[in-house]
Amino acid sequence: MAHTPETQVPERDAPDKDVIVVGAGPVGLLLAGELRTGGARVTVLERLARPTTESRASILHTRTMEILEERGVLARLGPLRAVGPGHFGGLPLDLATASPGHRFAGQWECLQSHLEPVLQEWAAGLGAAVRRGRTVTGLTAHADRVEVVSAGPDGTSRRHTARYVVGCDGERSTVRALAGFEVAGRAATRAMLRADVAGIDIPGRRLRRYPDGVATAFRRPDGTTRLMIHRYGAGPAAGEPDFAEVVAAWAAVTGEDIGGGTAVWINRFDNTSRQATRYRRGRVFLAGDAAHVQMPVGGQALNLGLQDAADLGPRLAAAVTGAGGDALLDGYHEARHPVGARALTGIEAQERLLFGGPETEGLREVFGELLGIDAAAAHLARGISGLDGRTTAPAAATPHRDRSTSTPTHRSSRMARLVHRTALVTGSSRGIGRAVAVRLAREGALVAVHYATNEDAARETVALIEKDGGRAFPVRAELGVPGDVHELFLGLDQGLKERTGDTALDIVVNNAAVTGNDGIAPQDVTPEALDRNWSVNAKAPFFIVQRALERMPDGGRIINITSGLTRCSTPHQIAYAMTKGAIEQITLHLARHVAPRNITVNSVAPGITDNGSAVFDIPEAVEQMSRLSAFKRVGEAGDVADVVTFLATDEARWITGSYVDASGGTLLGAGG
Ligand code: NAP
Repeated sequence: MAHTPETQVPERDAPDKDVIVVGAGPVGLLLAGELRTGGARVTVLERLARPTTESRASILHTRTMEILEERGVLARLGPLRAVGPGHFGGLPLDLATASPGHRFAGQWECLQSHLEPVLQEWAAGLGAAVRRGRTVTGLTAHADRVEVVSAGPDGTSRRHTARYVVGCDGERSTVRALAGFEVAGRAATRAMLRADVAGIDIPGRRLRRYPDGVATAFRRPDGTTRLMIHRYGAGPAAGEPDFAEVVAAWAAVTGEDIGGGTAVWINRFDNTSRQATRYRRGRVFLAGDAAHVQMPVGGQALNLGLQDAADLGPRLAAAVTGAGGDALLDGYHEARHPVGARALTGIEAQERLLFGGPETEGLREVFGELLGIDAAAAHLARGISGLDGRTTAPAAATPHRDRSTSTPTHRSSRMARLVHRTALVTGSSRGIGRAVAVRLAREGALVAVHYATNEDAARETVALIEKDGGRAFPVRAELGVPGDVHELFLGLDQGLKERTGDTALDIVVNNAAVTGNDGIAPQDVTPEALDRNWSVNAKAPFFIVQRALERMPDGGRIINITSGLTRCSTPHQIAYAMTKGAIEQITLHLARHVAPRNITVNSVAPGITDNGSAVFDIPEAVEQMSRLSAFKRVGEAGDVADVVTFLATDEARWITGSYVDASGGTLLGAGG
């Protein structure tokens, strides 16, 4: 069949695609690829005939690097240069302090003119239709669809329909205007000039302050010199700037003559600070500069926009494939509007420090002192790097004690260590798993409480966590049967998407296990019984880890619960102990495999631990079991859970591939 050119496709009322993205800049293209990955049909409409050759933005921050890596885009970009250290309002700020030890700590150079074609190729390769040379001129939202009208280079109009439309069309967004989004903020009060100039050779400088203004100059890879110049008090001006204006401003501030050069690109920017009051209006969304207009400083606009796209993509894909509903879509505004608002506030503060005249010297001095304090520097660096909330945040004061957690914890006494992390704890309906789930949630993690059959117990774990101010949801899947891991991840992904908008999983605790062959002599172990032990205790954890690693961000944690029985001879538990030996091998070999991603893998070995089963209510049995531990008591679930939780935190970043004994000294042997 002959290919049908787009201009001949008949107009249709039924949506012929799921999402129209307006704007094929980096934000629109990342969103398009993200939507395709999630199964949505997507068309991108772009005014420009080909990707930009300008590079307004050139810096990628830590969170953006993670996003690009997770989607395989980073590898396509080739090696990027670490550039640093970064600044806050022109005062040195090492952005690496946001995430010490992270492989993307700091900031990375990537010209927009390089990023855009790579993203386009990636998105198109996934099946996104990128239509260039089409300018959006009309938009009408209906209850079940949105109609968009676009004009081609020859002026002919076309009508497109989709279930959703996203405006990624920049600070002067047509979609924003046509869909009636409200915008709040303030108009520009200062303006700066930027230019790429060929044929000049002047000393490089970075945001250097002169008596009458601020100037930056640096040589770009293509041999031109990028200039930025601001004369204190210079306000916004009408019309496009020309080279004469740049030459005059440069001379007035620096005393240097660059009149012999040739401008390749000139641009005026200002300190406009505005944000759409909602990022969603029914079926229309905004992302990137269309949602928030800010002064370009330190590459934050591009990074914020890409992070918007990474948040919105999975939500919209879930909506069109039926996996998510309206609340998930509303969650986009709820998640990203506060981040945008905070970034605008930070940028306004930076602007004052950067471009304020001599009257800001005192303020700069005080800020300089504050940036010398590690915690203050790390706080600001996290905001810029897109890692806000990734680490510490205060939790509510709730003293708590129950059987599964044993030690009272006053949450106000320290900071929660796993805020914004997600965790899966297999077999957390009861016993040690429950205590682990409770503790991880108390540290701020969102926890998937997995169980096999005991739904009431799983719901009880969730209720315990929620009562304690934490977040959790139950996931059912019987392990050791065909399709077990697939079923587990179906429920897990749905639960995560509904609550976070994506399926990133930071922590996996392989805890579920069956004993089964307890007390059976080696000669009596049957193949069937061994298979059962094997499939639940070793095979399922292996494939859980395999699936989890696909969605685990850098710095993730895998913790396998083994047993002290792998270190002492207990013939009557040979089948069970064999499977625990196997899970320790998962730890050993994977630890090395995933170390380049800063993911740690460790085994934790409980000894006899009160898991709530009936035997622990028999005093004689407890007394006998107590003799095994050096502390002369049986372990409590919380004793083990504390160790697991520690391994999940950043504080345990240097421990991997290890066997951590959590048996209360059981393996030290009997004796005085
Ligand atoms: P537990 O109280 O027996 O609880 C087992 C958990 O695993 C439950 O949540 C259960 O879900 C789930 N589970 C069991 N079989 C499953 C299957 N086929 N598919 C999916 N989930 C399944 O366990 P525990 O005593 O706390 O032990 C936790 C871990 O510590 C295990 O790995 C165990 O080997 C290890 N360990 C325990 C001790 C000890 O003395 N307790 C000592 C050394 C090592 P349901 O509630 O739905 O059944």
